[in-house]
Amino acid sequence: MEATFLGCGDAFAIPRPGCPCPQCAEARLDPRQARTRSGMLLRTAEACVLLDCSPDVARQLERQGLGADAVTCVVISHRHNDHCYGLYDLARLRDPAAGPLRVHANAHTQGTLRAAFPSLFKPERPLVVLEAWGTGVRLAFDGLALEGFETHHYPDIDTTAFLLEVSRAGALTRIAYATDMGDAMPSPRARLEGVDLFLGDGTYLGAGGHGHPGTARVVEVAASLGARRVAITHVGHWGVRAAEAAAALGGDVAICRDGDDVFSFLA
Ligand SMILES: [Zn+2]
Ligand SMILES: [Zn+2]
Ligand SMILES: [Zn+2]
Repeated sequence: MEATFLGCGDAFAIPRPGCPCPQCAEARLDPRQARTRSGMLLRTAEACVLLDCSPDVARQLERQGLGADAVTCVVISHRHNDHCYGLYDLARLRDPAAGPLRVHANAHTQGTLRAAFPSLFKPERPLVVLEAWGTGVRLAFDGLALEGFETHHYPDIDTTAFLLEVSRAGALTRIAYATDMGDAMPSPRARLEGVDLFLGDGTYLGAGGHGHPGTARVVEVAASLGARRVAITHVGHWGVRAAEAAAALGGDVAICRDGDDVFSFLA
């Protein structure tokens, strides 16, 4: 079982075009500090599951040496552009002979996808088949289970994040992955207690802003859940160099980068 971050940036990626700030300037010089939009790839012996499908998905797969046909299933957290608008590219780049792509999305996201990309859902030749996702929905693969939980990102946007349960070396590893969240405690809280790793929303460094909690609140939520480790993803336009951001967060809080092995944060 492998879990790889394809993208750890916020809705508009880093660097921002033309921005002279220290964060963007550093990202242009050091590709490890550049971040594309949300994506995680989970590979088991039998499945290749993509969590979220950002507008950067084609480039993200290319960087992994994979074609669009390698993806066997997509699970989407919510309807915002940076999490699902790559679905058109992914579906169209696949070999039609392989059959439609299975995509799990909550009802709210399904409506958005059907409206945005009607050509993917032609009854005579669907390129995508939508299936259920939502709080409490559980999807099982070989050696991997995914369970949906609510992150209260916006009151009017259903956001179903991911609880990963992975069998590794005879033990169960539990990872909560919430790219976009609000200030409220994710729910159902009981399912998230004591996770090994909490991957939380880093749109804002320190204090929160519109629709996102800020890293201080993410660290507080992770501690309240008794998470063993915490790492920041969905990294926003913080305007500071990586070393300064790391110092602000403190040594116990990791900052995810594109291409990272998710399990490396457990060490
Ligand atoms: Zn987002
Ligand atoms: Zn910038
Ligand atoms: Zn969002």
